[in-house]
Amino acid sequence: MFIESFKVESPNVKYTENEIHSVYNYDTTELIHEEKNGAYQWVVKPKTVKYEFKTQTHLPKLGVMLVGWGGNNGSTLTAGVIANREGISWATKEKVQQANYFGSLTQASTIRVGSYNGEEIYAPFKSLLPMVDPDQIVFGGWDISKMNLADSMARAKVLDIDLQKQLRPYMESMVPLPGIFDPDFIAANQGERADNVIKGTKNEQIQKIIKDIREFKEANKVDRVVVLWTANTERYSNVMVGLNDTMESLFASLDRNEAEISPSTLYAIACILENVPFINGSPQNTFVPGVIDLAIKRNTLIGGDDFKSGQTKMKSVLVDFLVGAGIKPTSIVSYNHLGNNDGMNLSAPQTFRSKEISKSNVVDDMVSSNAILYEPGEHPDHVVVIKYVPYVGDSKRAMDEYTSEIFMGGKSTIVLHNTCEDSLLAAPIILDLVLLAELSTRIQLKAETEGKFHSFHPVATILSYLTKAPLVPPGTPVVNALAKQRAMLENILRACVGLAPENNMILEYK
Ligand code: NAD
Repeated sequence: MFIESFKVESPNVKYTENEIHSVYNYDTTELIHEEKNGAYQWVVKPKTVKYEFKTQTHLPKLGVMLVGWGGNNGSTLTAGVIANREGISWATKEKVQQANYFGSLTQASTIRVGSYNGEEIYAPFKSLLPMVDPDQIVFGGWDISKMNLADSMARAKVLDIDLQKQLRPYMESMVPLPGIFDPDFIAANQGERADNVIKGTKNEQIQKIIKDIREFKEANKVDRVVVLWTANTERYSNVMVGLNDTMESLFASLDRNEAEISPSTLYAIACILENVPFINGSPQNTFVPGVIDLAIKRNTLIGGDDFKSGQTKMKSVLVDFLVGAGIKPTSIVSYNHLGNNDGMNLSAPQTFRSKEISKSNVVDDMVSSNAILYEPGEHPDHVVVIKYVPYVGDSKRAMDEYTSEIFMGGKSTIVLHNTCEDSLLAAPIILDLVLLAELSTRIQLKAETEGKFHSFHPVATILSYLTKAPLVPPGTPVVNALAKQRAMLENILRACVGLAPENNMILEYK
């Protein structure tokens, strides 16, 4: 059964005019490696830490500024939100299609609330805590191509033509602001597109981005802005002592107008200085150590990297299942071909390398979780190939072969083939990223050992379900397994309203 909303009634939860206050017992374990009679043993002690959460319930008017607004993802997301907001339907050869938010965790998935008369009760994920309604978002952003969003949507060739015709009047007047362009960081084949660029030194470019954000806020009367990079994948930038390893060295490098500071890093710096959350949806190392350092010092949310949309999402489910079932994946080979501008940009070795790195580390946590299957340091062969095939456009093909060792030396090979518009996978993820980033800035928490409330760590691991290579604070474990990432997010939001984590025990019926 489905319910639209619910309210928690508990001595641990207080709803006031402006916030939800919850007290939450975090049940965890403490591990001790101790010596007993000359031998070492592991001792596990259950422990409970009391936390308090405060969530502001007043919803801001939200502005979202996309870097690469006129790209396939940017135009598809903007079009999709307008279509939902305006209740647009359109004729396809199969049926009359209504706008929807399928593929969005916050808008189209549910959570289990409990049992009622022997029936499982589900509610929308978004009903857990007050979240901004996507229909209310004001979109804006930058692009190195000055094409308006209606023409960008046509260039992307993603949405049905009848829908495009209806959306055109809403999107023609949307024109991206000039972007920071540096041909050294993206493929040479992108040069032709760059007719809308910011001039000046790196410091001047940062100041221009800050000015753009302020003007956008003012012009649209928005309370909060979230910026998200959905522009071309850049090559990795070098990380070097004295260049970008600390906040100080980064600022000094900017003063020298150092060539090795990438455009995405410049946007990130501008946002952090402006206390605007910045999310990186591409694989490059925008968040060099100096940027992370700056974000921590300024307590500004940063999140990334690289949208976890298709092949990798599947990988982080399948390998988790295999390793969790005691089956040993030994070879994982992933081919992609795509024909959109992203594919063209990735046809250069340096930008492909960024994607390869981001796609490659995704099984590490699952492999290292099972030393019964894998020797220390052992790893499955893992190969990622991406080819540019213009004809298929945005309709990406992903082919995967997983070979595993099973019982008594047997082998099992699973082959997957997925065909799907890439931008239709990425757009709802972008939406979730900005909505959850905004929400997480309204949450404060405090452990019983801490004196005062604080926000989450500025490096937003809470967004990791949505990213291929989750950015984590230095010294923090990376979790790639999709089910764990979803559970982490859902359970933290549940804690904010005083609900226990979903433990799936269903003891009521045992
Ligand atoms: P796209 O090439 O259609 O769009 C990128 C846009 O960014 C272009 O319009 C380009 O002009 C603009 N741009 C490039 N550099 C810029 C800069 N410095 N400042 C401002 N604008 C700039 O690509 P897309 O298909 O929309 O994908 C966008 C990014 O998302 C890519 O890096 C891609 O790898 C990443 N990504 C996409 C998916 C997916 O499923 N679609 C999944 C993971 C990651």
